[in-house]
Amino acid sequence: MLESIQSMCLHVVFILFTILIYQVFFNERDEERRKVTSKYYLLMLIILVFTMSQPVVYSEIYKYDFKSVAIILSFLYGGKRVGFSSFLVLLLMAYFTDQNLAVLLGNYMVLCLLLLPITRLFHRYGIKGKVTVISLFYSLIPITRGISLLIKGDEQELFFELSSSLIVLATLIAVVHLIENMKEQIEMRQELVRTEKMNVVSQLAASVAHEIRNPMTSVRGFMQLMQKEELTKEQQMYISISIEELDRAQEIINQYLALAKPQTDQYEIIDLTSTIQQSIDVMHSYAILNSIHISQNVEPSLKIEGLKLEIQQVLINIIKNAIEAIKSKGEIKIIAYHDMSGYICIKIKDNGVGMSTDQLKKLGSPYYSTKEKGTGLGLTVCHQIVKQMGGRITIHSELKKGTSFTIKLPSK
Ligand code: ADP
Ligand code: MG
Repeated sequence: MLESIQSMCLHVVFILFTILIYQVFFNERDEERRKVTSKYYLLMLIILVFTMSQPVVYSEIYKYDFKSVAIILSFLYGGKRVGFSSFLVLLLMAYFTDQNLAVLLGNYMVLCLLLLPITRLFHRYGIKGKVTVISLFYSLIPITRGISLLIKGDEQELFFELSSSLIVLATLIAVVHLIENMKEQIEMRQELVRTEKMNVVSQLAASVAHEIRNPMTSVRGFMQLMQKEELTKEQQMYISISIEELDRAQEIINQYLALAKPQTDQYEIIDLTSTIQQSIDVMHSYAILNSIHISQNVEPSLKIEGLKLEIQQVLINIIKNAIEAIKSKGEIKIIAYHDMSGYICIKIKDNGVGMSTDQLKKLGSPYYSTKEKGTGLGLTVCHQIVKQMGGRITIHSELKKGTSFTIKLPSK
């Protein structure tokens, strides 16, 4: 008895040690772990081969090993492919170590099939839920085995069975903790890199915007001087348009600078209906250029609290993205209305290229862009502005069918 417990502890130590080595030396991400070429799979094979070639011998007929741990872990963190590959290797090993192949095949096939939905369930929860799921699932094994032992009347082996199952379960829980811990660390490191990059670039952008303001002011000054000269009517018009455009550029720059330090105290009541109209007007020529029709159905006298230029920027960014998603020929529908819950809904729908679920997940994180000259900042700015105004943006998209952006803002 003592001897078998000792060799069982050896197995536990072996499994924990290999996982620890894995954690220290190989930082594999989730997707990498799911491949059959992953280090994780290699590790599972090592555990499988070790535990099956050194089974814990309790009595003449009763042997125990940890192969179920390797199979369960293969499915949980490696997915279907790694799981079934481990299962194949288990059968091979069983063949060479003269185990009862038919019984193993039956038992483990059931285990594998049960593990498929369990894996899905497992990944839906946090660490505590995961431990609960795996404990409940694993306790099925000793319960079924215990019942069959009871029927045979092997009380003494029942005790061994239960104690060994407890040890296996503890090992499983320890491994789940180790791997979850590693995942968390990897995520934190990535997040850190992302925010660091974001910080540097937004500081740079702010300083560039600041530097551009000065030359623009002097250009504007000279234009004003030129306006006083004797000019033809056409020349006069060109200059006044140039000044207007310069003013607009300056306003946009001011807005970007303001984003760095938001000033909610300057919020005022805005007429949203006319703001939407103006934004559509601004984008009109860009749409025509790409043979895109913009249709609209906007309720009259919608009012919100915020900064007019900011909300205009949001609308222009989203409409511009929609036009770029369509590329040529298509329709953009813009509707705006009061919904029942005291919010105003603005929907901007296009029938462009759309996005996959993966792309949708990445949206809104800064610098994510699929365009050659894209900045990936447009939507980040939109999200930030809308959030500050107490609203939110939701996105629905289907690949090749189109995208729909919904902006919800509190009504005033
Ligand atoms: P940029 O336009 O500079 O690429 P954005 O933040 O505005 O940056 O957009 C990020 C990415 O989101 C785009 O590169 C594009 O892939 C995707 N996207 C945004 N709007 C749409 C849309 N209406 N249809 C399809 N993809 C879109
Ligand atoms: Mg954009």
